[in-house]
Amino acid sequence: MITLKDKLSHLSYLQACKLLGAQGKQLIMAGGKYDIDLFGQVTLTSRRFYLDLAEAAVEIILDPFKPQRLKIGCNVCSTACEHQGAALSLILEEKLSLGLAAPPPERVPMESLSEKALVSQAIAERKERAQKEKMRLKSMDPRQLWTDYIITSYGSGKSYRIALRGWQPGESYCSCPDFRKNTLGTCKHILYALDKVNKKFKKVERETPAPIKEICVYLR
Ligand SMILES: [Zn+2]
Ligand SMILES: [Zn+2]
Repeated sequence: MITLKDKLSHLSYLQACKLLGAQGKQLIMAGGKYDIDLFGQVTLTSRRFYLDLAEAAVEIILDPFKPQRLKIGCNVCSTACEHQGAALSLILEEKLSLGLAAPPPERVPMESLSEKALVSQAIAERKERAQKEKMRLKSMDPRQLWTDYIITSYGSGKSYRIALRGWQPGESYCSCPDFRKNTLGTCKHILYALDKVNKKFKKVERETPAPIKEICVYLR
């Protein structure tokens, strides 16, 4: 029996476009603009994916009679819409934080790993994504290494803001849902950006720490 999670974990960009018909690509790109909080707006069980966008809600369930065995619907629109695009864009972009990217079977089972090993595995998974996925990085100040960037994923149309401030986890910031949720202090976008700037800047710049202009403290 294939579960909804199996199905969504294998969902490719092209299949997602097809689910929404002729305008699929545009609707997914447009849907990528929604800023979505994984804790508050998304529910995923073995039978149902549910996204609450306040202005509309999208549901995805398994349906053997539908193309690709998936049924997607919006409670406001009667045809394919940006809300459905937002759901698919999120699924394509956030497979790791939605628990949809199953690690390869040869890996050691999670239960037997120490805290430290779990963290390094989680970072390795994000590094893998950073290498495989196509992204575009735009610097707010191309002369500086430690500055703010906008990163856009080609596969989902999603853009996030990155503040690069150092090479180690916890030193930089990304506005994506995974960064907010994973507590690793990094994400695939930051790892991608660090790899890019590592190639672009000279050693002396790479080894100069970011100047501290102000300090922010936040409490969780
Ligand atoms: Zn809609
Ligand atoms: Zn990110």
